[in-house]
Amino acid sequence: MKQIQIAIDGPASSGKSTVAKIIAKDFNYTYLDTGAMYRAATYLALQNHLTENDVDEIVALLETYSISFGRSESGEQLVFVGDVDVTHPIRENEVTNNVSWVSAIPQVREKLVALQQLIATQGGIVMDGRDIGTVVLPNAELKIFLVASVEERAERRYKENLEKGIPADLETLKKEIAERDYKDSHREVSPLKPAADAIHFDTTGIGIAEVVKFIEENAKKIIDK
Ligand code: C5P
Repeated sequence: MKQIQIAIDGPASSGKSTVAKIIAKDFNYTYLDTGAMYRAATYLALQNHLTENDVDEIVALLETYSISFGRSESGEQLVFVGDVDVTHPIRENEVTNNVSWVSAIPQVREKLVALQQLIATQGGIVMDGRDIGTVVLPNAELKIFLVASVEERAERRYKENLEKGIPADLETLKKEIAERDYKDSHREVSPLKPAADAIHFDTTGIGIAEVVKFIEENAKKIIDK
């Protein structure tokens, strides 16, 4: 069967990774969470007490410690920096609140985009992020841009954080999500924006199953063509 590339972009907590994971499993495709890669780079920078002024050091660290993925016995996707499992620490507030400045560094993006493009050469892929349809996979057969209201996205993140045991306050989350969206959409390199040929989908008030169904129906139309 024809294998395609599915690019899913959108702002923070718009449901991208949840639906991308399900679609990848249903289609037996690779799933790549590019946000996790920028989070891993941020973790590395913070661990080494680096700031926006230490670009060369951050790039050198990325050359020394590779970012890679694995799978736990229960099937959970794991993220590694070198041989350290950072799956959980990269979801902590400190990383979340610093990831926008790290991901705005052109040299960091250059490195991670090259890695993402390499992973995509392996066959069918579902990749989620901010610049997948515009920069990483500009020829993806299917491009989806997911949006949802800030209120709903903050509520989703609030529940997720509590489940993971991460402290959360709804009003603070709303502020942080809006701030991260602003920074991600206004940076100079590869800002968050829909590709011209992306299909927009507003997931406010819509369940995961319905979003998955919509994307899979669109994918099947392309695969069966
Ligand atoms: O998707 P997630 O919220 O985990 O992404 C974390 C951050 O990584 C985003 O806020 C953004 O700054 C950065 N990112 C990016 N480009 C991508 C994916 C994520 O700049 N393709």
